[in-house]
Amino acid sequence: MRSRFAPSPTGYLHLGNVWTALLCWLQTRQAEGTLILRIEDIDEQRSKSVFAEAFMADMRRLGLDWDEGPDMGGSYGPYVQSKRYFMYEEALNRLKRDGLIYPCYCNRARLQRISSAPHEGEYHVYDGHCYGLSEESRPEGKSPSLRLHVPDELITYTDSVYGAQSEDLSKECGDFIVRRADGLYAYQLAVSVDDGAMDITHVLRGRDLLESTERQILLRRLLGYENPITYTHVPLLKDSEGRRLSKRQKGLTLRELWDDGVESGQIIGYLLYCGGLIKERRACTAREFLQLVDFTQIGREDLIIDHSPAEVMKTFI
Ligand code: GLU
Repeated sequence: MRSRFAPSPTGYLHLGNVWTALLCWLQTRQAEGTLILRIEDIDEQRSKSVFAEAFMADMRRLGLDWDEGPDMGGSYGPYVQSKRYFMYEEALNRLKRDGLIYPCYCNRARLQRISSAPHEGEYHVYDGHCYGLSEESRPEGKSPSLRLHVPDELITYTDSVYGAQSEDLSKECGDFIVRRADGLYAYQLAVSVDDGAMDITHVLRGRDLLESTERQILLRRLLGYENPITYTHVPLLKDSEGRRLSKRQKGLTLRELWDDGVESGQIIGYLLYCGGLIKERRACTAREFLQLVDFTQIGREDLIIDHSPAEVMKTFI
């Protein structure tokens, strides 16, 4: 088993990230697998190396360790996406050679227009406007984004928590962007190359990425990666108004909680308790929790986090 932590270093770790990282760690350590840390910093404007450093320090303080990563080395490096552009370029060239990539000149206004039609809950489907555009009709001096032409085919997989999933990308997503007009590689391409090239066998992440999975399955297949991946999407953390916790909300980063006098074992105990994975309000080390948690008990409902969780965490002993 090879699994990964894949943080985007765009802020300090908050409870939502810790929940997912904790479950990924529990899943891997219970199975005695290998855990990889990969820093996903392709969003160059928002990513900062201080946040990557802080991620590593905070995870260690929580007692959550990994086996390969930027600080540990390993035979699948580099473990930082901004050092892997050569691999994304190679992948893109392969897809181009196979005739699957085309330039798209659609501007934001047009994309908004075509995506404003669907009702809530429907997908925003790209209509293939630039597919098959002749050389002459391509606007001069405008740099295009690059799209992958998707097949008319149902892609299916079974998620360990949310069950059977399927998507016909041509109807529900449309041709999607693999490199943006500003030259940045898209998340979907980078993550597919990395999960393939790093021989990842298990992906555990927030359920907000459930709908990205079919695109990644397709990309990995087109790129010739054969390692089958078991996907486990997990519920998200919400506040009492039902909003997803974000890096912008106060009092929810690990650093704020520690400053408030909360201990690592209390943070972990609180999350496992809220997620229904332990029955008592208990605080202990991540290692000790390994014996106590039945990972398969994880539910599908999002977790509601108290308004000021620090006070509640302090009641965990
Ligand atoms: N880097 C992504 C994030 O922090 C996670 C991507 C993934 O797990 O596939 O949201």
